[in-house]
Amino acid sequence: MDITHRRFKHADLQPLIRKHADTFEVTKLGESVEGRSISSLDWGDGKTKVMLWSQMHGNESTATMSLFDLFNFLEASGDEYDDLRTLLKSRLDLKFIPMINPDGAEQFKRRNAIDIDLNRDAISQISPEAIILKRARDDFEPEFGFNLHDQQIYYNASGTPKQATISVLAPAYNYETDVNAVRTRAMQTIVGMNEVLQQVVPGHVGKYNDAFEPRAFGDNITKWGTSTILIESGGYPNDPDKQYIRQLNFMIILNALEQIASRSYEQYTIEEYFAIPDNDLQLVDLLLNEVQVPVNGNYYPVDLGIRRRDITAGDTYYMSASVDDLGDLQVYYGLEEVDASGLRYVEGKVYDAAFESVASLDEMKVMELLKQGYLAVKVKNGAKGNLHQLPILVLNSTESFSSGWKTGESTNFFLEKDGVRKYAVVNGYLIDLENPKDQEFKQRVY
Ligand SMILES: [Zn+2]
Repeated sequence: MDITHRRFKHADLQPLIRKHADTFEVTKLGESVEGRSISSLDWGDGKTKVMLWSQMHGNESTATMSLFDLFNFLEASGDEYDDLRTLLKSRLDLKFIPMINPDGAEQFKRRNAIDIDLNRDAISQISPEAIILKRARDDFEPEFGFNLHDQQIYYNASGTPKQATISVLAPAYNYETDVNAVRTRAMQTIVGMNEVLQQVVPGHVGKYNDAFEPRAFGDNITKWGTSTILIESGGYPNDPDKQYIRQLNFMIILNALEQIASRSYEQYTIEEYFAIPDNDLQLVDLLLNEVQVPVNGNYYPVDLGIRRRDITAGDTYYMSASVDDLGDLQVYYGLEEVDASGLRYVEGKVYDAAFESVASLDEMKVMELLKQGYLAVKVKNGAKGNLHQLPILVLNSTESFSSGWKTGESTNFFLEKDGVRKYAVVNGYLIDLENPKDQEFKQRVY
């Protein structure tokens, strides 16, 4: 069975681990709070030890997929990569620990079943998962470590509107953020990884903040003598399930392993590392510039920054949008931006007659309703929480919907010019009423 979306669970991984048990040495390291197994997969006959662990935050699954892609790659033979495999196998001793937090992954949430952030439990060791990870490092004493995470899609490469699709860090080991030989090796390897990324996704790389966090694993594992490389998978246009970013991860992890096996990272300098642009957090999904919003009969021009968060529902998700910030938002970038100067914020209506179900509507009918000023329809059948893909609000358990333009408010409204509706904003999705573009709507019934 192959993984094709990012909400897979512990049970999905077990047959994949068993599949590799002939080529990799599989060891059960222990169990999570809720009794799920955490296993390591070992490969290679070399001297240089490298440990890679993923998903200590349960909803950060991109690199776990990449690790399994890497297992398939290492296990294959008879293609143009045999020389690379031979190099890796003879020089490296690899230990992979995928999905350190299987209980979090089960609910696609960050923390474990004690509601502890494992990345703040490196020292206290309250969680069994944290004990497993630390013990694995202490027993193995790797020269290199890969700490694999996901970050919000709203990170950008500082000073640019480009998403930080991959962010990197050689974590600090003290508050002074000193650079010793251990940290230098991580920085050098990152420079080589960044070279690869700049060829494939130019401008989409950020360097994570290196403020020392005394409770975090990356920082402490560096302190304990392992050259640690943090990879954060962010966002990339039109890749909501991060299947492209998964490939990028695979590519740079493989590149890093080759650098380590051949010691080619030694050609790079820490100055080149520090030259990688910083991560910033300046993106919103939709930036509406200078919308006229009404207060006490007067209109004020404000920039509206809207973010659509994905909310997990089983192994899929829906979006829930709200205003993140407003006012002068010149320091933000929109993944989608509109010059809304001269456009007025106008509320929408609920269509009176109830439809039978979501299936009795289609996109054409919905566009008609939007143009007439309706932002919501009622359905007789179709329970609250059901998912749908219509560009309109669907109501079953309620007769009304919320809308607004202030921070935290749900974004359902029209933008009007001289009494003519130009755009609908439905759950944060922008719909150009004249020229609607092709887009996917991830909605739920209210
Ligand atoms: Zn994380």
